[in-house]
Amino acid sequence: MAEHRPHPASTPQSIRAEAIEILLIERGLLSESVIDDVIVRFNERVGPMNGARVVVRAWTDPEFKTRLLADGSAAVAEYDFEGGQVDKLVVVENTEAVHNVVVCTLCSCYPWSLLGLPPRWYKDPAYRSRIVREPRAVLEEFGVSLAESTSVQVWDSSAEVRYLVLPQRPTSSIGLDEADLPALVTRDSMIGVALL
Ligand code: FE
Repeated sequence: MAEHRPHPASTPQSIRAEAIEILLIERGLLSESVIDDVIVRFNERVGPMNGARVVVRAWTDPEFKTRLLADGSAAVAEYDFEGGQVDKLVVVENTEAVHNVVVCTLCSCYPWSLLGLPPRWYKDPAYRSRIVREPRAVLEEFGVSLAESTSVQVWDSSAEVRYLVLPQRPTSSIGLDEADLPALVTRDSMIGVALL
């Protein structure tokens, strides 16, 4: 049998995942190359870098931004992103007046093709219930302090509708080369739990 990749953190979850992986490979249900392909795919081709490209284009191309906010699915379709179907993508824009944040209260629906795999806390029952009841308190815990005059809008994802937050462009990015902008756009800012 081929040697297994080293696991940097021996958490109970990683030990369990490795045990399952070994069993599936031993029984011929899975091969190491398939697992490696999935890991490469989600590390290099599916992930927040796709959402960041969309965000930067919206910042720099007003015509695209209008289309993106009007019909996210159609605007993003031209990219051919892979990694899970999004039936309907709704893009919501953060402004001085409104701050948007995304949750799936039922489970963990998430725009995979734009953001990759959801972070662990996104699936946490505490986040899923508290962000609805006390969004400002939860946002404070993420380090997001909003002005009193900014209203908070929480969007509940589902299997049918996924949301992407269009974060505000940081004023410090004005004058930067457009090619350098995607690196500024964090995953958390596109969920709405971080500012840029
Ligand atoms: Fe869900």
